[in-house]
Amino acid sequence: MPVGTQATVKGQTIHSLKSAGSRVLLANTFHLLLRPGPEVFRKLGGIHRFMNWDGPVLTDSGGFQIFSLPGSRRMNEEGATFQSYVDGDVHLLSPETSIDTQKAIGSDIMMVLDQCIAATAGHTEAEAAMELTHRWARRSLAARGESPQALFGIVQGACHPDLRRKSAEFLRDLPFDGLAIGGLAVGETPAQRYEFTGVVTEHLPKNLPRYLMGVGTPLDILEAVHRGVDMFDCIIPSQLAQRGTVFTSQGKLHLRRSVYKFSEEPLDAACTCQACRDHTRAYLHHLVKSDELLGWHLLTIHNLSFYHGLMRTLRESILQDTFLPCYERMRSELLRTDQENPIVKPKPARPFRYPRLGDYEIHQGPGGFNSVRQISSGEVMHSVNQPEEEANRLYIEQSFLAARLAATDLSTDPLVVWDVGLGAATNAMAVLRCFERCRAERGDGVLRPLRLVSFECDLDPLRLAAGKAGYFPHVRHAAPQAILANGHWTHSSGGMRWELVHGDFLTRFATAQPPDLIFYDPFSSKTDSALWTAETFARILQACSSKSAELYTYSAATAVRVALLSAGFFVGEGVGTGPKTATTIAFTRAEGARAYPRTPRLLGREWLTRWRRSSSKIPTCLPAEARVQFEQRIENHPQFARPS
Ligand SMILES: [Zn+2]
Repeated sequence: MPVGTQATVKGQTIHSLKSAGSRVLLANTFHLLLRPGPEVFRKLGGIHRFMNWDGPVLTDSGGFQIFSLPGSRRMNEEGATFQSYVDGDVHLLSPETSIDTQKAIGSDIMMVLDQCIAATAGHTEAEAAMELTHRWARRSLAARGESPQALFGIVQGACHPDLRRKSAEFLRDLPFDGLAIGGLAVGETPAQRYEFTGVVTEHLPKNLPRYLMGVGTPLDILEAVHRGVDMFDCIIPSQLAQRGTVFTSQGKLHLRRSVYKFSEEPLDAACTCQACRDHTRAYLHHLVKSDELLGWHLLTIHNLSFYHGLMRTLRESILQDTFLPCYERMRSELLRTDQENPIVKPKPARPFRYPRLGDYEIHQGPGGFNSVRQISSGEVMHSVNQPEEEANRLYIEQSFLAARLAATDLSTDPLVVWDVGLGAATNAMAVLRCFERCRAERGDGVLRPLRLVSFECDLDPLRLAAGKAGYFPHVRHAAPQAILANGHWTHSSGGMRWELVHGDFLTRFATAQPPDLIFYDPFSSKTDSALWTAETFARILQACSSKSAELYTYSAATAVRVALLSAGFFVGEGVGTGPKTATTIAFTRAEGARAYPRTPRLLGREWLTRWRRSSSKIPTCLPAEARVQFEQRIENHPQFARPS
């Protein structure tokens, strides 16, 4: 049965349906109840006159549609109450109103209202739905009264053999004209579908038609016929036609494929339908590609012809008692796809891999910017936003680097900047560009000399970036090449010198020139824990003892802040960057914090209160007695002293 939801099989005329071999149509009670409404059928003499179809019509009960609309209906013993999608009116679909509507529509075969549930429903739920369906089956029979229209019962019970058997046995004792298998093709596997079709048909009477509702593909139908089913309805012939897919004697064809662009062959040489008779694959391919209605129309005709032809073949083989060999042959035929134009799965393209060097590779972040990732740790340098932007915001702007270079009245000593974790030189180049901007802005004016000291033990990230400047515009400069080649670079003015301290920061920094600013950007404590301990920070503080210095870092972790405090730093909150709401600034001296040009951001007593409750209050690696001292160092830190 082709599905004629709205008293029409989509895009087909009664003539095209007949020529395709359709003899009985299915119409949907639910949709016809809402529009045009039973009154129209009563007045115009039923669906046959209405659509000028003189063959039989089967109407479903509307149950399937109702239960496909969870949320917009209320259900109880009486029936289902729901709101019309056409005019918003509230309707009651009960066994009685369903039969009344089907009587008005005037179908030849009516279906009882049943409660549809997923085929995967549990035993309790499935049993309750089955019992309700049985009570509704009795009410439907009573509501039919003297009507000459046939009425079919529906076996439910999901995928529970005992329930399926019970339901079949219950219904076969009632005066139905046929029995249907409901609740399949709603979530179960094909194997389960075949199994439960067989479970039910075993218990159905042989003299009544058996109808498997909503099934299926040609293969599903073949398997169900093999298990004793007589009738089917399915929208697949029309639905697949709309997508350009057809079933042929040579297998399934996808007409959208360009292999058919120049094909003068008919769709199926073994078919005599209008589409195969009148047109080439090339033309049908074109119609499908152009989304033309005629393409859908013609391919539906063909698919319906194929389905009806399949049923005809199966019927004849049963009558000639040759079903089994026919079943075997059809089963292999129906599994085929276009053999002359097989679908060749494209070889998976070699995945694109960003350039690598040593333990590092280029990484493109979700924002589309490039950075460097350490392969072994997976850690990305400047992972959260555009690296140059982050370098400028976090280090250059926060440290007022430009203003310090311009303030020659304060000191003519070189301003020393430590760049801890050279990486791909993002921060170092931001410092260099800042210096160049200051020079450009001040003309030939004098700047405070700048000395940039970069610490790095592994130069591969910079080599990788410098070798792929297409990915990293910030290294398009002579300086990084000079750093790689000679370990130092000096600006032509002599005003800036950049030098590399190659090796482990922890063993090298004590001998470096003491810094004014520290841009502290090594890998995180997960990857490089030694660089984030209180001991390391205490040694850095010691190295800065000759002057007031400031340390800027991307981390705002409590563990990092307490390590700095414990080491004796004065710790404040730095600006947020990207998704981070805060970073950290640490001052070696209290007066450094007071002189900081912005509102002092030193962590206050509220922070201390939060810290006391924090899970990362004290480094877990400390022995018990050291924990007490550590805690006291934080509690007694002058930063938290009450103003006297
Ligand atoms: Zn055809």
